[in-house]
Amino acid sequence: MIPHVLPTYNRAPLAFERGEGAWAITADGTRYLDLGAGIAVNLLGHAHPDLVAALTEQAGRIWHVSNLYQIPEQERLADLLVEATFADTVFFTNSGTEAAELAIKMVRKHWDHAGDPDRIEILTFEGAFHGRSTGAIAAAGSEKMVKGFGPLMPGFRTLPWGDHAALDAAVSDRTAAILVEPVQGEGGIRPLPDACLKGLREICDRAGALLVLDEVQCGMGRTGRLFAHEYAGIAPDIMMVAKGIGGGFPLGAVLATEAAAAGMVAGSHGSTYGGNPLACAVGARVMQIVADDAFLAEVNRKAALFRQKLEGLIAAHPAVFEGVRGQGLMLGLKCRVAPTDMVRAGYDQQILTVPAADNMLRLLPPLNIDDAEIAEAVARLDRAAASLAA
Ligand SMILES: *Cc1c(COP(=O)(O)O)cnc(C)c1O
Repeated sequence: MIPHVLPTYNRAPLAFERGEGAWAITADGTRYLDLGAGIAVNLLGHAHPDLVAALTEQAGRIWHVSNLYQIPEQERLADLLVEATFADTVFFTNSGTEAAELAIKMVRKHWDHAGDPDRIEILTFEGAFHGRSTGAIAAAGSEKMVKGFGPLMPGFRTLPWGDHAALDAAVSDRTAAILVEPVQGEGGIRPLPDACLKGLREICDRAGALLVLDEVQCGMGRTGRLFAHEYAGIAPDIMMVAKGIGGGFPLGAVLATEAAAAGMVAGSHGSTYGGNPLACAVGARVMQIVADDAFLAEVNRKAALFRQKLEGLIAAHPAVFEGVRGQGLMLGLKCRVAPTDMVRAGYDQQILTVPAADNMLRLLPPLNIDDAEIAEAVARLDRAAASLAA
């Protein structure tokens, strides 16, 4: 008999009752060091007092009104995002998938509005992940995600990762946009080199196409800059944000320049919940904490410390680990064993990690993890690796 919850997940036999900072705690009081952060979502850990205050204060005032009315909390968060980024305007969603959906619609509307409605091809890359809607799976084009869900939405072309010749050959006057994650998350913590991101910007400028960045996983300070593309010194035309921006409350956003958003007018797009007062009150508090040079400098300092310790871990377990890659506190340990085995071995040492493609074990701690917790995480990973080798 089918379970009452549709069985689309492979869940671990673990349930958490509460959390404190980098720790998730089961009903019997067992403390797990949480290096998954709900898949890069709990940016400031569990039950951060400022976020709890922002949420509960808002909860005592008003939860939801719909976008039929002004939402001051939404305007405040939009102000913060516009101030801190390339963007001129923001649309709020409840998830990364919805942000991807709007980014795709915005690209199409942009070219229709520009009088070039046949310009519909969006170039994407192997290993990409943009969500699970019909549009987002067409954009990713990975076999696992699309199998049985055809026909796929037309207008997407998936290119091999790192193949410059294939990219040059694919760009034409039908190219509406290039859509890419500056650091692939699900694809296995694969950072796009700065020179490549610069190159994509130049290709888009030359072809007149839009550059759309998916910073759902790598954005919001995760890589040590507020947004990962800042490392390359370029700006996109459209950017998707979600995961960390709500600190655990469902929230996503599409940021865009005024030019890219041309054509989006009243009635073009909408959402019942998107940008509701609860989500935006929390999002604004997250932005105030994270969009801060001193906070981001700390992320980078801790990332360097973590990486140095991980190099030691790899050297100690050459049969289990091959290397480390990533940027900031978006790190991946490339495994010689199945990463899911390493995740399970981690459970036995009370540490939570997340597998990814390309044999990666993702380490995505809350950005406010402290030095002692980083040392503790490496000690637990060390014991987990030793148990696998045994
Ligand atoms: C998680 C993710 C998404 C989808 O976000 P959901 O909130 O799960 O819908 C899209 N793009 C990237 C890069 C992601 O990591």
